[in-house]
Amino acid sequence: MTAALLDTFGRAATDLRVSLTDKCNLRCTYCMPAEGLPWLPSDELLSDDELVRLVSVAASLGVRTVRLTGGEPLIRPGLPGLVARLAELVDLSLTTNGLGLTRLAQPLRDAGLRRVNVSLDTLRPDRFLALTRRDRLADVLAGLAAAKAAGLEPVKVNTVLMRDVNDDEAGELLDWSLAHGYELRFIEQMPLDPQHSWDRGQMVTAEEVLERLSARHTLTVDPSRGSAPAEVWLVDGGPARVGVVGSVTRPFCGTCDRIRLTADGQLRTCLFARDEFDLRTALRAGETDEELAARMSSAVLGKKAGHGIDDPSFLQPDRPMSAIGG
Ligand code: SAM
Ligand code: SF4
Repeated sequence: MTAALLDTFGRAATDLRVSLTDKCNLRCTYCMPAEGLPWLPSDELLSDDELVRLVSVAASLGVRTVRLTGGEPLIRPGLPGLVARLAELVDLSLTTNGLGLTRLAQPLRDAGLRRVNVSLDTLRPDRFLALTRRDRLADVLAGLAAAKAAGLEPVKVNTVLMRDVNDDEAGELLDWSLAHGYELRFIEQMPLDPQHSWDRGQMVTAEEVLERLSARHTLTVDPSRGSAPAEVWLVDGGPARVGVVGSVTRPFCGTCDRIRLTADGQLRTCLFARDEFDLRTALRAGETDEELAARMSSAVLGKKAGHGIDDPSFLQPDRPMSAIGG
């Protein structure tokens, strides 16, 4: 029988998010303060060899898909080489802010990267500057085009809508994405900001996103969701689609198949977990693959039923999204 990473609720972890760095070249207001964050010391970051080893142990336990993220994964030096090694083990995708894709899309595709998600919250240069504190919208748009041209498929666009900031752009972003052949996914804002300023009342809910889109298009449920977080809708009968990830108001914890590895080698069973399992120290102490596998299995066994954002005792995790790996 193949080993599997099972929890006590019968879920199997088959999807791993790997953060390649906690650093970033943008400063999205809902993710990082203008001055950045106290970055992880470089000797605590997993090397390429260490990362490949942990992914290979995870793969031996049934992990099939890995998404590389951060911080900004494209700023990790030597990324195409790392991607080539990981692509031999698992089905690989990446989430990026798009800066650097004009240079890296083709080498990454050649190295075995399959798909890419590019985060983009606005199509207006002045808003982009206000939201990310950098005047780089044109570079992100060029990066998206480069991803498409390199044959990464699908190219998805991730958007977080915020009330009175960019929520008037929902329809525009969808029409623009459809015109360019990108698949758009709206993501509800989650309580993961370093400033701890998330406010449920300010969050634009999945329901509101759907209302706005329905004013311009007919949306019908695409039933092929599986364990994917996004609810997917066919736009005007399809084949065009749009996704909405209602992590807060429509949680999908019951079918969650995801675990996470931080850039400093800590295993987390949920974005909102308050516990981490230190694989880096174990690995550097010389543990065997079997011992590391046992650590992963026991961590996953303790995975909680849900994120508990609605629970009165909910506490935001100590690390922000950019340090966990979004
Ligand atoms: N830098 C890359 C990027 O922006 O795509 C990868 C890391 S980033 C943390 C991954 C995704 O998380 C982005 O789409 C970003 O918009 C989203 N994100 C960041 N903070 C969030 C929050 N509090 N709630 C929901 N999504 C968030
Ligand atoms: Fe950087 Fe991504 Fe956070 Fe924006 S959302 S600051 S691009 S890590």
